[in-house]
Amino acid sequence: MSHAPAYDPSNIFAKILRGELPAHKVYEDDRALAFLDIMPRCPGHTLVIPKTPARNILDIDPEDLAYVHKIAKTIAIAGKAAFQADGVTIQQFNEEAGGQVVFHLHVHIIPRHLGVPMKPPASAMEKPEILAEHAALLRAALGQ
Ligand code: 5GP
Repeated sequence: MSHAPAYDPSNIFAKILRGELPAHKVYEDDRALAFLDIMPRCPGHTLVIPKTPARNILDIDPEDLAYVHKIAKTIAIAGKAAFQADGVTIQQFNEEAGGQVVFHLHVHIIPRHLGVPMKPPASAMEKPEILAEHAALLRAALGQ
């Protein structure tokens, strides 16, 4: 069994948390941040991350993981309402072999419509004005 590498603070989501890179933010509190995926697999594709430095499910404190999922539930309900979705796909990948590309734990929340497939991962960067519009829709659905 291979050993999991240590958390690397130079990952993209750590930079977003430190304000070194921009993001279309949807929700923020002292423990979690939610922002739009830059290459959405469906409109409204949101990522929820803990503020604590955790690589993935293998090293995160269970309480921090539970909190991220609590916020993921809130975002799932808001995303379903904001995009008049029929359902919501939740994904969370761990280590390269598990499909993880960015090594700061994140939960994908993807509003889904019946019969509409998701785009493949990393297929296209969304226009900033569309992401801004979608983030505003989500914030409104969250009552913010
Ligand atoms: P995963 O690690 O779960 O496979 O996927 C990482 C996700 O992060 C992908 O869905 C990708 O589109 C998204 N992503 C990669 N770089 C950025 C970025 O700079 N900003 C944002 N908002 N999302 C990103």
